[in-house]
Amino acid sequence: MRIDIITCCPQLFESPLKHFIFQRAIQQQLLSIHLHNLRDYTSCKHGKIDDQLYGGAAGMLLMIEPVVNCIRALQKERRYDEVIYMAPDGEPLDQNLVNTCSLKQHLMLLCGHYKGIDERIREHFITLEISIGDYVLSGGELPALILADAMVRVIPGVISDASSALTDSFQDGCVAPPAYTRPYNFEGKKVPDVLCCGNHKAIQEWMEQEKIDRTKKRRPHLLKN
Ligand code: SAH
Repeated sequence: MRIDIITCCPQLFESPLKHFIFQRAIQQQLLSIHLHNLRDYTSCKHGKIDDQLYGGAAGMLLMIEPVVNCIRALQKERRYDEVIYMAPDGEPLDQNLVNTCSLKQHLMLLCGHYKGIDERIREHFITLEISIGDYVLSGGELPALILADAMVRVIPGVISDASSALTDSFQDGCVAPPAYTRPYNFEGKKVPDVLCCGNHKAIQEWMEQEKIDRTKKRRPHLLKN
């Protein structure tokens, strides 16, 4: 998978992209991430990329020209499966959407800033809009990283134990069961005995039941689907 990220703050990606999961995917050549600084695509003096809103509303908007210049330059190089704008009012991100996106080869992610982007970009250049939740952040960089991290961990081969990502919450419409590690007894709080009994079938049954009980309690809407 190749992800091209358009941003006015490429430095925000530096540390997260050095992180274990991204590094592993990049080293295994299962992923490449390319950052594109909007300031390299403006024809304005001093690298200006924002302007006032028509109609006199408060705040600034990313200008249409650098954004479209960048999208077009990338599209000249290759075909993109989706040109995604990270938007508070976009399609809510969930595991289904993550899984669908993770199957694509070429994705472009556009990170808005300030008050966002010119509506004409959304109408004519964007093929998918994704929101990470009903709250507003100051830029699309963290949402883009969240989407990228979620996609990368379900690309086959990135997590060494292939079944690990598949037993996480939401993959089969339930949340994950509780998990324990050593010591067996921590200050009198013990691990459920069934997990230590060695009976694989009993362990599976216990996990299935815990998943359902926990989903009923924490995400009942998942069970209605
Ligand atoms: N004026 C806009 C908010 C702009 S926030 C509005 O009221 O809807 C600036 C940028 O941050 C957006 O362009 C978007 O790219 C990003 N952003 C903020 N919150 C987000 C969210 N919940 N999900 C995805 N992207 C978000």
